[in-house]
Amino acid sequence: MDYLARNYLRSRKIPSTACSGCGLGQCHKAMVQAIHELGYKVEDIIWATSIGCAGRQTYATWKGDSFAGTHGRVYAIARGLRVVLPPEKRIVMTVGDGDAFGIGFNHLLHCARTNCDMTIMVCDNLGYQSTGGQYGWTTPPGVVTDSSPYGMFEPNWVQKDQDVLMILKAAGATFLARHVSTDGRAMVETVKKALQNRGFSLIHVIYPCTTNFANTALGSREPAKIYRWIKDHAAPLGQEKPDTLWSTGIYYDASNSRPEFSQVVREKVAEIQRRYANEGTH
Ligand code: SF4
Repeated sequence: MDYLARNYLRSRKIPSTACSGCGLGQCHKAMVQAIHELGYKVEDIIWATSIGCAGRQTYATWKGDSFAGTHGRVYAIARGLRVVLPPEKRIVMTVGDGDAFGIGFNHLLHCARTNCDMTIMVCDNLGYQSTGGQYGWTTPPGVVTDSSPYGMFEPNWVQKDQDVLMILKAAGATFLARHVSTDGRAMVETVKKALQNRGFSLIHVIYPCTTNFANTALGSREPAKIYRWIKDHAAPLGQEKPDTLWSTGIYYDASNSRPEFSQVVREKVAEIQRRYANEGTH
């Protein structure tokens, strides 16, 4: 990520403090690469982070403006900022699965409901890895974690008929996709599409946690094993096998098809101001 790091990231935050072999860097790089390829400058992007591994490791890495909101609040902060920021500024977020799909889910749904312009990458390490490796809302069925010693048996947010992406679609999101972090070029292209939507875009990315998840689920911290396991359980949409856990690609693209939240607010405020200005002249 040399040239990307030099141009877009703070040198004192490189290298990342993530565990050796962690797949989070692949997620981070895909976002920066997409920003670079679309020709955005450092000052065009406001970067937001949350709590947990994804929040902590990407926090304040962006050379330009950034902010953090812990424990699920970053979506509400971003929605407020969206109204006061110039429309051309892009809000980009790298958050975790526990933050987005657990404690922050209510705020996330309201960002989708209003089609608030932001590009969110949910970097999913399949549970609560920063606190030692408890199961979360996307932990695959049967997987052993620190808090599911007999295997995960709760329904999760990825399984058929209750996929979190479909919930977000019903809530009003206009761009939704899923990848695994090893998807490389395909993932960068998806992120570029997401960034070009003037509305609510979310990319869900499953990445390997080499420390906690790998240890409890596979009994090994050898990075190659968890990378292979995630890759083997992913397949492009329409090419799934019986053991596919994650269908990858774009699930829903209604980019630029619905009014965007901050634009609606600005138009409404202008209309009210006009109305009162006219009343004042009578
Ligand atoms: S605990 Fe897991 S997800 Fe968190 S930084 Fe370490 S390897 Fe990455």
